[in-house]
Amino acid sequence: MSSLAATEITTTFVEKRPLERYAEPAQPSLVGMPRPTLAQALAEVGVPEGQRRMRVQQIWHWLYVRGAKDFDAMTTLSKDLRAALARRFTLARPPIAAEQISVDGTRKWLVQLPGERAEAPHEVECVYIPETDRGTLCISNQVGCTLNCSFCHTGTQRLVRNLTAAEIAAQVVVARDRLGDLAATGELSAPSDLAGGGERRRLVSNVVMMGMGEPLYNFEAVRDGINVIADGDGLSISKRRITLSTSGVVPNITRAGAEIGSMLAISLHAVTDELRNQLVPLNRKYPIAELLEACRNYPGLSNARRITFEYVMLKGVNDSLTDAKALVRLLKGIPAKINLIPFNPWPETTYECSDWDQIEKFSEVVFAAGYASPVRTPRGRDILAACGQLKSASEKLSARERLALRAMAMTD
Ligand code: SAH
Ligand code: SF4
Repeated sequence: MSSLAATEITTTFVEKRPLERYAEPAQPSLVGMPRPTLAQALAEVGVPEGQRRMRVQQIWHWLYVRGAKDFDAMTTLSKDLRAALARRFTLARPPIAAEQISVDGTRKWLVQLPGERAEAPHEVECVYIPETDRGTLCISNQVGCTLNCSFCHTGTQRLVRNLTAAEIAAQVVVARDRLGDLAATGELSAPSDLAGGGERRRLVSNVVMMGMGEPLYNFEAVRDGINVIADGDGLSISKRRITLSTSGVVPNITRAGAEIGSMLAISLHAVTDELRNQLVPLNRKYPIAELLEACRNYPGLSNARRITFEYVMLKGVNDSLTDAKALVRLLKGIPAKINLIPFNPWPETTYECSDWDQIEKFSEVVFAAGYASPVRTPRGRDILAACGQLKSASEKLSARERLALRAMAMTD
């Protein structure tokens, strides 16, 4: 039995559904709002301009450090201001409609967002993957996706809508809250901090934007949402611990470098334009050479700060050793990590996941070229994969899906 096969664990999920009954929000919630939007909300209730910065700072602290759920808890604000805010806004978090908990600690939440009709909310998935040295939250940025990569389940769903910045950031609040992690203090600077005993450690230490949607096609909301998540006075997850995964929207990669500054993951999946055109049709617009050029120019790259290249292992399609050799040749000169993702099949797909021994052989070529071999660790955490296939509300995570998610979480 290969080391990889040994990692196929069978786990039982505890499923709780429904957790919260969905109610269309009557008033806007302040949770997740970027600072300028929050300042605007304060202006609406009559807070004079000169005070807004300070009030934003106070509310920020209550929301993200203290985990306040109602205005009354915000004792540093006057009673009048609290009442004025409560008349116009709420502190509601997006409700969790269902939760699945694996015995290995992986949790999947179905988060509800307002839809076109009150009785038909949208649902996005959010997955928490605990590791010994970190806890990674995989979040969504669109309901569905406008692109249609041929191996991706989300791509078969018609785009319903973009998430707002607040909805993107609120997923971190919802997850931290659910994990009892919201009132923990202190930003963690290194993985070793997480392992330490004394201090209460953050359960959500990393965020990957690898759920539903193409983040670089919802640029402003993703940028502003990441700024809320990274804000050092609040949720405080540094941009070095936030990874944005893109299928290759070249002009916005450059823009992300200038305006976002998070870590970057590229869904490469093929080494020739001919094949990538089929797997990731966006390649027709932005072919591999242009994509890699944008990667080379991504600011701040170094051996300590690399781009992750994701490569989904599709049996007989892109998994030959010739492909593996071409892959390492292609990435030469770019500070890179390579994540091999076992394909996670879904109903109606004609693709199959590569055989485990083929994934291992492929990974050996990658390893020999000097990249940390993604398929070696006992729990299979480095074979990775994707929240990208998340789609159905009621589907449970399969063992392979969990392995894939774990590996995908290994972006730094
Ligand atoms: N739209 C972005 C981010 C979401 S997808 C992107 O494409 O990068 C996150 C990752 O999951 C991507 O690398 C995607 O190619 C991969 N993925 C999608 N469907 C998959 C599947 N069925 N099995 C394994 N990985 C998949
Ligand atoms: Fe969209 Fe990413 Fe899926 Fe492609 S892989 S369809 S870009 S979510």
